[in-house]
Amino acid sequence: MASPYTVAYMFPDAKSVGSVSAFRTKPMAKTDVDLIVTYCGVCHTDVHFIDNDWGMSRYPLVPGHEIVGHVTRVGTEVKELKVGDQVAMGCVAQSCYKCECCQKGRDNLCADRRFTYFHDTTDETGTHRHMGGFSSFMRTDYRKLYKVPRGLEQNHVGPLMCAGVTVFEPIRNLLGDSLDGKGKTIGVLGIGGLGHLALQFVSKTGATAVAFSRGKKKEEFTKFLGASYLVDTTNADAMQAAYGTLDQLIVCTSGGTFECDKFLPLVKPFGNMHLCGIPDAPITFTAQLLVFSRISISGNPTGGSTDTKLMLEFAAKHGIEPIIEEFPHSKAHEAIQKIRDGTIRFRAVLKNDLVDVEETLTALNNGYVKL
Ligand SMILES: [Zn+2]
Ligand SMILES: [Zn+2]
Repeated sequence: MASPYTVAYMFPDAKSVGSVSAFRTKPMAKTDVDLIVTYCGVCHTDVHFIDNDWGMSRYPLVPGHEIVGHVTRVGTEVKELKVGDQVAMGCVAQSCYKCECCQKGRDNLCADRRFTYFHDTTDETGTHRHMGGFSSFMRTDYRKLYKVPRGLEQNHVGPLMCAGVTVFEPIRNLLGDSLDGKGKTIGVLGIGGLGHLALQFVSKTGATAVAFSRGKKKEEFTKFLGASYLVDTTNADAMQAAYGTLDQLIVCTSGGTFECDKFLPLVKPFGNMHLCGIPDAPITFTAQLLVFSRISISGNPTGGSTDTKLMLEFAAKHGIEPIIEEFPHSKAHEAIQKIRDGTIRFRAVLKNDLVDVEETLTALNNGYVKL
C-alpha cells in the first residue's frame, strides 16, 4: 500500500512565496514515529534555505526545524516513546550513532549528520528526503525526538529547539553539566531572537549576565531578561570600562560584517569569544588581541542530544520563555516576510491549522485512555 500524503506549507523553488500543498509520506520504518505537529518555530535559517542563499536547498522544500507535536504512532522498535507523548525535534534528523561525537551526545557535530530538511535519511525502507515542520504531520526517527518536560508551554518549545539550544551550548561548555555560573561573567552581544534567550539562560546559571547593544534603549528590557547591566557598544568609554571583564562573550548578531577587534578586548585571559550567529562577510581580527590575552574564538552549529535534554530541563525548571509572535501554518509567508523585514519580536512560531489538531488530539486521548 502506498504511503499517504502529508499536507504541508511548501516552497516549489527559490524565493517563492510558497503555498499549502502535499507530499507523499515516506514508508514507516521500525524506528520511525509519526507525530502531529502542533507548533513549529521559524528560524532565520529557514529563510536562507527558502532563498537558497547557501546553495544547498532542494525543492520542493518544506522548512522548519523547531518542531513540537504529539506522537500518534510508533514503529515496532520504538520503546522509549508512546502514543500521546509530547515531543520536540530540532535541527538534526539522523546521525551515525557510532562516532565519538554521537557517543558523547554531540551528534550535531557528527560527520554524517543529516539536517531536518534538505538532507536524505536512510533506513530499511530506503533513502528518502526528510521534510521539516511546516508540515501537518511528520514521520521521523525516534532517536532525534525529545520528550518535552512539564512546565513548558507548547508554543514556546519550538524556538528552544534551535535558538535556545544554540545559545545554551557554549554556556554548558563553559560551566559544565552543573551549569553553576557563580563567579563568572558572561556577555551577550545582540539582543534579538538568540540573544534574548541567551541572557535568560546566563542569568539563571547565577553568572553575571551583561548585555551588549547599540544605544541604551534596550536597557530596561535586558534587565527584565536577567542582565545585571547593559553596555552601549557605541559608547567608547563604556566599552573600555568593560575590557577584560568577560569569561565568555556570546555573539548573537547575524549577517553583515562583524567587527571582531572591537569586541575581543572585552574577554579576559583564558576567556572565549563564541559565535552563535553567522556574519555574511569573513571575519578578520588582529592576532595580538588573541595572543597577548590567550583568548580563543569558537562557534557551534545548534546543540547535540545531551545539550538538548539539559536545555529543555533547565528551561522548564527556570521558566525560560522565548518571546514569540504566532501565525497559522497556512500563513507561513507572513511570518517569513516579518523575518525578512527584521520586524519579528523575537521569534515567529507557526500553529498548525492545516489539519484539525484538536480533533486528532481528542481522538488520540480517548483511544489512549481506553487502552
Ligand atoms: Zn534554526
Ligand atoms: Zn556520528
